[in-house]
Amino acid sequence: MLSMTLQCLNKDFVKMLGEHAKFKALSLENILTASDGTRKILFRLDDGLVIETVVIPCDRGRTTVCVSSQVGCAMNCQFCFTGRQANIFHIETLMGLKRHLSTAEIVEQAVFAQRLLTHEVGSFTNVVFMGMGEPLQNIDSVIKAADIMVHDQGLHFSPRKVTVSTSGLVPQLKRFLHESNCALAVSLNATTDEVRNWIMPINRKYNLGLLLQTLREELGLKNSYKVLFEYVMLDGVNDSVDDAYRLIDLVQGIPCKINLIQFNPHCGSLFRPTSTEKMIKFRNILAEAKCVVFMRYSKGDDQMAACGQLGKPGAIQTPLIRVPEQFKMAVNA
Ligand code: SF4
Repeated sequence: MLSMTLQCLNKDFVKMLGEHAKFKALSLENILTASDGTRKILFRLDDGLVIETVVIPCDRGRTTVCVSSQVGCAMNCQFCFTGRQANIFHIETLMGLKRHLSTAEIVEQAVFAQRLLTHEVGSFTNVVFMGMGEPLQNIDSVIKAADIMVHDQGLHFSPRKVTVSTSGLVPQLKRFLHESNCALAVSLNATTDEVRNWIMPINRKYNLGLLLQTLREELGLKNSYKVLFEYVMLDGVNDSVDDAYRLIDLVQGIPCKINLIQFNPHCGSLFRPTSTEKMIKFRNILAEAKCVVFMRYSKGDDQMAACGQLGKPGAIQTPLIRVPEQFKMAVNA
């Protein structure tokens, strides 16, 4: 197909393209379909590494494509499968990051997945950067990819429908808010530094106070822009009534929505999901305080396609962080 297209072009132009551009596409490795219709697509990269892209069809005509931004992840969030896989090829690069994806490799995931699944799920309506990797650790490529996704000569999504998620890299988060119109999601997951230091080690560098104050200041400068806080609910760890009240205090003055997410269990994690009843109670406390709050149930978990489940089952796992004494009962440590 590509060679036919090139034959139609002026020879000098083709020569110039050959000198300045590379035609590299992802190749399809596999598609796994979960019982709820979620698809996990495995793409092989030029260098042989494999990434995962997830397509989540929803009722109400919405279909979301979740793209990866890195191969593996360095953040080591304790509840996440991706972040806990060590790099089996370069064991010295701890905590599972193999490499960043290029802008082309990110955009191509959405384009290729759309081409593969158009007849089954229709057109994609939303893009989320919530696959493998910490998007803002690869900020140059991610901002360019998001720009292409919203450009009218690119994929032409509304900026409100393209969401970049971060575990809380504060300097990069500031840069993203200055340079992109796309939506931002922050993976919060705890209401105290003690818990967040344990389950999201990035908090030791950029703690809750700094993260939230930065958002308060930066969003004060933007017009009608809301950050989405994601809160994965872990039984006995971050789901108490006290947590709900602390969360209300923490987000005071930040234009935001809060997404309560049911934890997706996987091998290699100590945690258990919060029960639905407890999630509803937590949600109601936030709603009574006039927070905009949603609950998101697990999707695609029977094919390891759910949030926090991407990565290669059976790969070497990075060491777990020591469990604080008061949570040992909750995680059976
Ligand atoms: S939750 Fe996101 S940032 Fe954390 S380890 Fe997993 S992929 Fe990385």
